[in-house]
Amino acid sequence: MKDPYEVLGVPRTASQDEIKKAYRKLARRYHPDRNEGDKDAEERFKEVAAAHDILGDPEKRTQYDQLGSRMFAGGRGGAGFDPSAFSDLGDVFDLGDLFGGMFGGGAQGRGRDRRGRRGRDVEAVVNLSFEDSLKGITAKVPVEMATNCQACSGTGAEPGTMPVVCPECRGRGVVSQSQGMFALSQPCPRCHGNGTIIEKPCKVCGGAGRVRQTKRYQVKIKPGVTDGTRIRLAGKGEPGANGGPPGDLYVTTRVASSPMFERRGADLVIDVPMTYAEAALGATVDVPTPNGAQLSLKVPAGSQDGKLLRLRGHGAPKLNGSGSGDLLARLRLKVPTKLTKAEREAIENLQKVSREDPRERVFS
Ligand SMILES: [Zn+2]
Ligand SMILES: [Zn+2]
Repeated sequence: MKDPYEVLGVPRTASQDEIKKAYRKLARRYHPDRNEGDKDAEERFKEVAAAHDILGDPEKRTQYDQLGSRMFAGGRGGAGFDPSAFSDLGDVFDLGDLFGGMFGGGAQGRGRDRRGRRGRDVEAVVNLSFEDSLKGITAKVPVEMATNCQACSGTGAEPGTMPVVCPECRGRGVVSQSQGMFALSQPCPRCHGNGTIIEKPCKVCGGAGRVRQTKRYQVKIKPGVTDGTRIRLAGKGEPGANGGPPGDLYVTTRVASSPMFERRGADLVIDVPMTYAEAALGATVDVPTPNGAQLSLKVPAGSQDGKLLRLRGHGAPKLNGSGSGDLLARLRLKVPTKLTKAEREAIENLQKVSREDPRERVFS
């Protein structure tokens, strides 16, 4: 354990205020969010936090001043000090739960609200026509969300004033009841863990620092989205608190159904009506594609009702960019409901010459 005064770079005569200032400066400099992957910075950050835990608490500071490093030597000369109590400190400085957990209490306690809280994620829906879902478009999406109040720049304090350090907790955001070396911490009731209080609230936002606002985003919709595709726009959610990162915006697509095409993954199915003669003799028919073109489809002689013919690559674009699905032409045998005299005679003749015997009907 290093000398906490040395770690914070303050003289032994430093006031609590000076200690806090020195700590904040160093903690900011070595904060893991700023020094990702930097083991040295992480080490320094832990040292700074540990030093502040002692010097930031007048009672612990007095004990340290009296005992010095023996405070951590354990056992002999430790003046009633239980070293096992200190081995727990390592857990308190869990880097996954900076600042918040450091001051004891539940890891989810309000104390963690004080710094770098990530903004909320926001959900929005965009309605698309079937055609646009295949072509892709840039859609304007109105999103209602909380944004930083412009009048007070998000501080919540009336312009010209600033939030002041909470006198109850002296800015720590938590109040602790000391029981010897053990301190039970809880969020400060006065400032609700913020560490600061607002004396004159901003008139625009009523002190919240935030207002609800409708933002209009231009969202690029890729060709091939389906009903229910969720698009993530990183950082377009609500702004973070106390310098924390913004949340994300999730846009879910609602795609209108098509009267002509049925979506089956990247494939599209279209019903192609055909006469008995076309199905029996074979034919070439025009089939509309989703992009408005016509394709010539060869129907083989003897095609059954419901037969699927595949037109490769004429389906919906695949979202991963690897080409398109297929267009599936589903043959539909149309039975005429009204017959001319000539038609009736022709069909009656057909029945006479038919090789099929109704008594040999096969059900399968
Ligand atoms: Zn407070
Ligand atoms: Zn405001």
